[in-house]
Parts: sequence; structure tokens; C-alpha cells
Amino acid sequence: MLKRLRPASRFQRPDDPLVRIRRAARVKTKASFAEALRRLRASIDRDKLVADVKAGNAHGALEHLDLGSLRERVREAYAPVVDAFNRAAAIGAKAIGQALASRVRKDTTAPYDPPQDAFAFDLFDQGVLDEVQEWQDALITALSDDARQVVFQAIIDGVKAGEDPSAIAADILNVVGLNDQQAQALMNYQSALANLNAAALDPKLRDASFDDMVASAIDSGSPLSDAQISDLVDAYADRLIAYRADTIAQTETSRAVNAGLQASYAQAIDRGVIPAEAVKQYWLVAPGDREEDACDECADMSADGIPLDAQFECSDGDFHAPPEHPRCQCTLKIRTNVDMLGPQ
Ligand SMILES: [Zn+2]
Repeated sequence: MLKRLRPASRFQRPDDPLVRIRRAARVKTKASFAEALRRLRASIDRDKLVADVKAGNAHGALEHLDLGSLRERVREAYAPVVDAFNRAAAIGAKAIGQALASRVRKDTTAPYDPPQDAFAFDLFDQGVLDEVQEWQDALITALSDDARQVVFQAIIDGVKAGEDPSAIAADILNVVGLNDQQAQALMNYQSALANLNAAALDPKLRDASFDDMVASAIDSGSPLSDAQISDLVDAYADRLIAYRADTIAQTETSRAVNAGLQASYAQAIDRGVIPAEAVKQYWLVAPGDREEDACDECADMSADGIPLDAQFECSDGDFHAPPEHPRCQCTLKIRTNVDMLGPQ
């Protein structure tokens, strides 16, 4: 069975079952993540924020972020991710059952009875529950830290630029829900629009339906109104949030399916259903990731497969499983050497 993994098969196949599960979960969860980030923006009371900025109360400004609701919404948005984990584990459990059955068929001299129900994955294993909880907590912490960071940065930049409190408050309202890099891109976009700089036509995620308006303002040198700039900035911010939510959905579901598959084999090994030596895992590079050297390396350096408890060598460290980077779509393949099953 192991011999069948040819070099070409280090690439993910279009019918990879983990890909199918991940895609469905990504669609379900990305809208909820986007909603969680949009609500975080919408929950801020502008007047109270202006008052705090006016009073020079930066920490007061941070208090306007409703991080408690963000936490609840992210937990809810996570449900399809947990479901994807469980479905991937079920695929692993089925493959383990098939490996056990093929061993029975093959060996006529030394009949071997696998456990009656072959192998069933235990979703309520404490280790599994803890792991999923850790992912959620890490995501909530990262989103909360980013929100605080971009608010704080908007205050620092606004004060440095000599902006009045209401302009600083407007900047804060614009960047909440974005990550650091996106917040910077948004502020650059706003300043390019205000200064009629051609860079205002550069951002990939801008709303291009305004391009004619912006281009003619740049050509004629007649400034855009504050209302026009505000609409353009809002549209760009909304697209940045949608993109960020999709990145989160893609990365979290990728982690879930690969970890789910691994968890089924880990449980089978722990329970003595299959020996650890019979199991090898392979990193399959996603078609969209072929240009990414990092994922190619992960697959190359472990081309002969590695034990379940080992880590894949990648250019920026060792990884238990994909994702290796945000939006990584690689998957794992786990193979069982049936000759090593049952009584030796
Ligand atoms: Zn990848």
C-alpha cells in the first residue's frame, strides 16, 4: 500500500475528501466570522468615543470595544469548524476499519478478529475537546489583541498628525475589525483619496465601481468631498473585513480537518487497535499552494511519510499538520500498512 504513493501524489487530488469537508465548512463559517467583526465595529458609540479621545483617555477608548460579544460570536461561528473536525475524524475511522477488514480477508492462515465495531472515533475524548477549545481561545485572543492594537495605533497616529478628536474617532471606527496590516492599508487609502494620489486606484480589494469617479478627480485635481471619501473608505473596509473573515474560515477549517484525521488514528493507536509503526502520514500540497515554496518543502522533506507523532519539516519550522501559513489549503493523507496489523 505504501508503494503506491508516487512523487506526483504529493499533490492533493481534487476529490480529496478533506477538501470537500473543508470547503463546505468554510462557506458556512466565513459569513459568521465577518458578522462578528462587523458587529464589533457597529457596537462602538461614536459620541462617547469622541469624548474619551477629547479627554486624552486612550484606555477609555479601548473600553468601547465589545470584546465580550466578540467572544460569544466567534464561539458560535466556530460550530461548523468543530463539525468539520468530527467529519474528518469519521473519514479516518472508516479508513482504519477498512484496513482492519482487508487484513482479515488477506490472512487465511492466521485468522484475526478485529474488534466487532471495527473502530469508532470518540468525539468526547477530553484531549480532543481541550484541543478544539484551545483553537477557539487562541483565535478569540488574537482577534481581541488586534482590535486593541489597531485602536491604540489610530490614536497614536492621529495625535502625531495633529488630528482633532472627532477625526481620530472616525479613524478608530474605520479600522476596528481589521488586522494591523489591513488598518495601515486602509489609512493609506484614505490619505491617497484625500491627496488625489494615484495610489488610491491600487488596492486590490477597493470597490472598483468608484474608479471612474476617483480617476477623474485625480485627473482634474478637484478634490473628492468628505462624504465621497467616507463612502469609498467604508466600502474598502467592508471588503477587507470579508477577506479577513474568509482567511480565518479557511485557516481554521484547514486545521480542523487535518487534526480531525490525525485524531482518529491517534485514538486507534492509543487503544491498541493498530500499532503506531503501521501508520505513516504524508503532506499533500494543495493546487493553489504549488507556488508556495514553504508547502512544497513540507511535502518534499517528508516525502517518504512520517510517523503520526512526528512533525513535518517546513522552511519556517516544524508543523504537526497543515496549515503552514494563513489560507494554506494543504491536506494530510494517512496510510496504514495492513501487513503490520493483527497478530505478527
Ligand atoms: Zn499549504
